[in-house]
Amino acid sequence: MSNIIIAIDGYSSCGKSTLAKQVAKALLYRYIDTGAMYRATALYLLRNHIDIYHPEHVAKALNDIHINFRINKAPQSQDIYLNGENVEEEIRVNPRVVSIVSDVSAISEVRRFLVKQQQKMGDHKGIVMDGRDIGTVVFPHAELKIFVTADPKIRTQRRLDELKEKGQNTTFDEVLANLAKRDHIDTTRADSPLKKAEDAIELDNSHMSREDQFNLVYDWVKQKIQQASA
Ligand code: C5P
Repeated sequence: MSNIIIAIDGYSSCGKSTLAKQVAKALLYRYIDTGAMYRATALYLLRNHIDIYHPEHVAKALNDIHINFRINKAPQSQDIYLNGENVEEEIRVNPRVVSIVSDVSAISEVRRFLVKQQQKMGDHKGIVMDGRDIGTVVFPHAELKIFVTADPKIRTQRRLDELKEKGQNTTFDEVLANLAKRDHIDTTRADSPLKKAEDAIELDNSHMSREDQFNLVYDWVKQKIQQASA
């Protein structure tokens, strides 16, 4: 059976990573969360007081950013390391990271820097990658592309539940506003805006259980693996 590349894109908090992890686990593929790479970059820039509105300062700082993933728990649940430090938790709960990450992701120098690393990770296929530009820019020839959507209020509630579980004190309206802002920046930026690749399958999971979603997607995966192996 051939290994394939599975690209999962979509709006913030659509459950992309949950789906991607399930699929990677079932196939024994590697899972890469590209959002974590943008978040870790944003964290570095914040900590080092780099002015993100000066792309030349950002470009210089990128030389000092080393990002890698390490498996600490289950094989499909990797932690992200920034210059050797595990920042998995901090990049998700630090409100300053959450508020600037989409502006950082709109910087072309940052995108070039991270996309190159992401493409390298797919050299041997057998990978599930989620993000905003995976099917359009990172792997335009991915065998399976999925574009995930869900109702904004449902997405907000899911993110709120996640943050509360992590002990974060925030409100529905705050989370809704942050998601709307990130979606707006992600879809309107000049470089690699979030959009559905022409050959991506759209999946609205607003009213789907995780299990139903996985079963549906797994059927698509099996078909694509069969086609690639024929
Ligand atoms: O997926 P997650 O919400 O963790 O991503 C954080 C931010 O990183 C997104 O809001 C988006 O601005 C950016 N991003 C991106 N391209 C990707 C993945 C994430 O621009 N491939």
